[in-house]
Amino acid sequence: MIRLIRSTDKALDDLLQKRTIDLEKVEDSVKEIINSVRSGGDEQLCTITARFDGIRLAPADLPVSRDEIQAAYGKVNADFLTALRTAVRNIYHYHSRQLRNSWIDPQPDGTLLGQLLTPLRRVGIYVPGGKASYPSSVLMNAIPAAVAGVPEIVMVTPPDRSGSVNPHTLVAAAEAGVTEIYRAGGAQAVAALAYGTQTIARVDKITGPGNIYVTAAKRQVFGTVDIDMLAGPSEVLIVADESARPDYVAADMLAQAEHDELASAILVTPVAELADQVQQELYKQLKKLSRRTIAEKSINQRGAIILTENLAQAVEIAASFAPEHLELLLAEPYRWLGSVNNAGAVFLGHYSPEPVGDYIAGPNHVLPTGGTARFFSPLNVDTFMKKTSLIGYTPQKLARFGKHAVTLACMEGLDAHAASVQFRLDSLPGDIEKT
Ligand code: NAD
Repeated sequence: MIRLIRSTDKALDDLLQKRTIDLEKVEDSVKEIINSVRSGGDEQLCTITARFDGIRLAPADLPVSRDEIQAAYGKVNADFLTALRTAVRNIYHYHSRQLRNSWIDPQPDGTLLGQLLTPLRRVGIYVPGGKASYPSSVLMNAIPAAVAGVPEIVMVTPPDRSGSVNPHTLVAAAEAGVTEIYRAGGAQAVAALAYGTQTIARVDKITGPGNIYVTAAKRQVFGTVDIDMLAGPSEVLIVADESARPDYVAADMLAQAEHDELASAILVTPVAELADQVQQELYKQLKKLSRRTIAEKSINQRGAIILTENLAQAVEIAASFAPEHLELLLAEPYRWLGSVNNAGAVFLGHYSPEPVGDYIAGPNHVLPTGGTARFFSPLNVDTFMKKTSLIGYTPQKLARFGKHAVTLACMEGLDAHAASVQFRLDSLPGDIEKT
């Protein structure tokens, strides 16, 4: 049965705090995989793929060819293609709003300060493939990169036991603007992207969700390349009042629970009657799910219904939980929005169920988990861009501010820094004012 917790119970503190991903248990095995690929390149990548994915590939098999992508179009149905292209349009439109310009601030004295925003040159996107296929993840990673203007978008995804990649994933990649695809998964694919192999050129950044091996590998290669975030199991927290329908609430909790046994679905409500009805609905709806075993484990072991004194307290609990997905199934959801800025995505009102955000609305579904919404943002266009500062001084400006740089450099004991400025100050023509 799902846990029922009152806002005064100690169990609530445990629920709020015990959410970190335990990567330690796979650190050593992931390190070994990374080192093998780093030193052994394609050969090791293929050997490790044989071990974990059950298919022996030759290095020449790693890239997915144009013909294979073309053939994939013949294997997907028209409804899928229509839905996919609609999602592409909405995601593209939403992310286009995030684009920011470089800026230059020229001063009347001829100096110039500014900031250049440029796309990364080559990025790697990890698309999970182990237990299911995720064309939506392809779109959510590749489209922001394409909007940012990244010229080389490299996708890696594990092959199945016949060496194929799911045709829906391939079509999604083609529609989203992916430029290269390799059949490789797990920590070995992350290592190939970070260090390069004979076939796969190294990238500047790796994004995308994956299982514990992928996440641990991303953490280990951080610094050699950039990464987006460390994603843990998915989670939804629903704040509901008497206006909420129990069947909607239960369905939204199960939508999260079916992802993974470790996923968590939590309802926070001051309405005791709703709590009871949701509990009954959960087990009624569970019976009909194809992924019932996974969802039931998640609901029973990770799920919770928290009964609060009032709505304000429910919203306060939601804010301190900092969930990946926050649903406000309230009569006046917009009224409470200002109190919940710690969430990956907020779904407002009874007609914004979380799966519309997963697939079609436009915002990104790669979101911070495990309370990291306190400091991480959803994947976005900035994820694929970097900033460069611009400084263009004139003799007049150096004459004005240079002496302060010399003072600060001397204070830090950096004589050469001071000299670099002082030489110039000493050689400035006399008619330049040194105020
Ligand atoms: P995956 O692609 O992440 O992992 C499969 C790979 O794991 C295999 O190719 C293999 O190389 C490696 N592996 C398996 N067992 C191993 C072992 N014992 N040692 C070393 N490596 C091993 O696919 P998955 O396993 O199905 O996991 C996908 C995860 O991504 C799920 O947790 C899912 O919920 C999550 N996901 C998240 C989002 C999101 O946006 N947050 C979207 C889609 C999927």
